[in-house]
Amino acid sequence: MSASKRKLLFIDRDGTVIAEPPDRQIDSLEKLQLLPGAAEFLGRIAREMPYHFVMVTNQDGLGTESFPEENFWPAQSRMLELLAQQGVRFDEVLIDRSFPEENAPTRKPGTGMLAEYLRGPYDLAGSYVIGDRLTDMQLAKNLGSRGIWLTLGHEAPDSIRVEAEGLCGTVEWIVPSWEDVYVHLKEIGGK
Ligand SMILES: [Mg+2]
Repeated sequence: MSASKRKLLFIDRDGTVIAEPPDRQIDSLEKLQLLPGAAEFLGRIAREMPYHFVMVTNQDGLGTESFPEENFWPAQSRMLELLAQQGVRFDEVLIDRSFPEENAPTRKPGTGMLAEYLRGPYDLAGSYVIGDRLTDMQLAKNLGSRGIWLTLGHEAPDSIRVEAEGLCGTVEWIVPSWEDVYVHLKEIGGK
């Protein structure tokens, strides 16, 4: 049996695994809410398929006055704990703390935080970015991976938009639920 390269699921956090509040900042435990199916189906993927998980998230201004660290970590830790209860563990949790206007290369859709995955023994073509935004799909393109656009009750982006953004070859599925993510990955054999 030949050694196979590791396949990854790069997973967005806000709006994908946990609910994104109107102010887009999860800075208290009270604001933490797992999205429907996230823990259950990530757990099933973890148990049944060979993917490794990497969380990639933009947290604008984390560590500054507008978003102090001590307000961030309790909810972040609790989320990881709830996922771990389902057997979901992340190889890495990568957090970009810049503001959009800084145009940092580490900020999604930039791959600045993901250099080791571009170089290392990974099957990026067989890997996916799962997220709720266009920038997640652009990240998939920049990695040479494919994107799973998870809409979770929001309006699904139409094919014209996907085409206009040059993401036709990147966006593999646009799906409304975590169950669909699971089913699609299962169908392709989770290979
Ligand atoms: Mg998001």
